[in-house]
Amino acid sequence: MELTAKLFQTYIKVLPQTSCWEYLGAKDSQGYGRIFIGGKECKAQRVAYQMEYGPLPSKARLLHLLPVGQCIGRACCNPGHLKIFEPLSHIAESQTRKTTLGVKICKNGHRITGDNIVTETRPDGRIQERCRICCQEKWRTRKAALKEMKMATA
Ligand SMILES: [Zn+2]
Ligand SMILES: [Zn+2]
Repeated sequence: MELTAKLFQTYIKVLPQTSCWEYLGAKDSQGYGRIFIGGKECKAQRVAYQMEYGPLPSKARLLHLLPVGQCIGRACCNPGHLKIFEPLSHIAESQTRKTTLGVKICKNGHRITGDNIVTETRPDGRIQERCRICCQEKWRTRKAALKEMKMATA
């Protein structure tokens, strides 16, 4: 059976005071609504959010944005009470991929491993591993640009 917005509504009770959509179906141990779609278990709040706003990146998590008292929290599926939360590390990670062996690959397809690693400390104190080939390429073009500038101003 395909899940439609109409069917989804039958799992929901709208609370008049907070306008929360309380999920009435199964919940996981943490209190989040669970729903089966095509045999796959999904978070009810994600389903509700995607019905309203379209597909979510798989790494994006949803948080309830209202304080306690204005929203019932985990059991609430009102898309208007949810916001996307993407941790900084996820944003950094999205620039690199990992092979099945756990070796990181930069966006240009170089393996970030062994000698091809430069570490960089990010403003938030995290250490990030970058591709040396690509960094050198960047430094080279930057240097060349500087040289050109100097020549132009000389
Ligand atoms: Zn709510
Ligand atoms: Zn690279």
